[in-house]
Amino acid sequence: MYAVTDPATGELIEEIENATDDQVRAAIERVHRGYAGWRRRTVEERTAIVARAAELFAERTDELAAIMTQEMGKRINEGRGEIGVVVDIFRYYAEHGPALLADEPLTIKGGRAVITKEPIGALLGVMPWNFPCYQVARFVAPNLVLGNTILLKHASICPRSAVAIEAVLRDAGVPDNAYVNVFASSRQIPWMLADPRIAGVSLTGSEQAGISVAAEAGKNLKKSVLELGGSDPLIVLDTADMNETVKATATARMRNCGQSCNAPKRMIVLADIYDEFVDRLTKRVASYYIAGNPSDPKTTLPPLASIAAADEVAGQVAKAVSQGATLRTGGRRIGPGAYLEATVLTDVTPEMDAYAEEIFGPVVLVFRAETEEDAIRIANDSPFGLGASVFGTDPARNTRVARQIEAGMVYLNTAGGSQADLPFGGIKRSGLGRELGPAGIEEFMNKKSIRL
Ligand code: NAP
Repeated sequence: MYAVTDPATGELIEEIENATDDQVRAAIERVHRGYAGWRRRTVEERTAIVARAAELFAERTDELAAIMTQEMGKRINEGRGEIGVVVDIFRYYAEHGPALLADEPLTIKGGRAVITKEPIGALLGVMPWNFPCYQVARFVAPNLVLGNTILLKHASICPRSAVAIEAVLRDAGVPDNAYVNVFASSRQIPWMLADPRIAGVSLTGSEQAGISVAAEAGKNLKKSVLELGGSDPLIVLDTADMNETVKATATARMRNCGQSCNAPKRMIVLADIYDEFVDRLTKRVASYYIAGNPSDPKTTLPPLASIAAADEVAGQVAKAVSQGATLRTGGRRIGPGAYLEATVLTDVTPEMDAYAEEIFGPVVLVFRAETEEDAIRIANDSPFGLGASVFGTDPARNTRVARQIEAGMVYLNTAGGSQADLPFGGIKRSGLGRELGPAGIEEFMNKKSIRL
């Protein structure tokens, strides 16, 4: 069942039945048939449509932001900001598509060759609720430009975002068999992946969902891209302005109510500034992040996406405390909506569950590192490897540390962002493959070698 439930109140607003197996099969057939026509259009025709989609997303910013606020509790201004990034992504691939898809001449032993950049077919996208529009954009914009068609299964708590995105694409001129939203259930995914008309799958979501989808894709010899969870480290080596550093790190952690895959979730602070950092961070988190209605632009702490999510994160905090972590502030659920106080935990040790798991909510963990090497060791002591940040005043030292971190992305003196032209993705249990930038259009591409 797909359902819209307002996380600020817990009120159920709408329920939508899952698609039947026959409806899912019909949707697969549509995108399969659509592929033949869409791939034959010129790159210029496809990019013109993708460029129009960018403009329509921009025009519908307020409408889309309001939907996200209602469905998953995103602060209204953050929703508007998310659509700004969506617009950038569609514009980026519209502008750079022709160059990214240009033939690549190659001089080889005994002659010449050319690499052509071709699509592979109809793709399945399985998307999460935390950035309902941005996640879809990262997958859809490059693949539409490339010539693949898309069947999209969105998260079951954001059906209205799913419908609104499909409407933008349709109004921009994407044919109704080149992009299709389907209210499939995750139980239908295995046989959808076994269907020969589906050429590949991209999933953004939890590690468990990734394991399941990657296994099915592998069994059927289909390419998969997996954008999964993270527990990103943020190393503070030193600072010229402690207040600014604390503010920047807290802001990055609390963005989207802590529900960002690449939020810095583990602050690792060198010993000589640790006590001051923890004191100031605790004060900042306790005084600035106050629960409120996500539709009010002044709100600093919105609800989590669902009551279940808030209960789960509160449970992780309680468990950490029962295992010996120190609760500096927060930790309590606030009802009746899906609110959790903004929380700071310290003294988390490797024996505790919180040390290695992802905490997907407004919870900061702070670790003390004795030396730079110790900070790098703690940063890398995680099953995840999505992003990381290094804060420090010496650029050469920041870069030296960045090079030693096991992650797909490292940000210097900034944290947790994403932009259209910078590749995004992780290693270890954070996933496989890249989205955005030039790399993002290559995942479902047939780089065909033609020997001349
Ligand atoms: P989720 O529960 O894994 O759901 C994501 C999507 O996968 C939903 O459409 C869901 O459908 C579907 N799904 C769930 N279990 C499945 C299964 N066994 N087989 C096939 N599909 C399945 O994740 P979420 O709670 O929405 O999102 C939060 C997670 O996503 C966090 O771990 C976060 O770090 C990660 N994330 C990663 C990135 C990145 O770029 N690396 C970006 C954003 C989020 P239903 O809704 O119908 O269950």
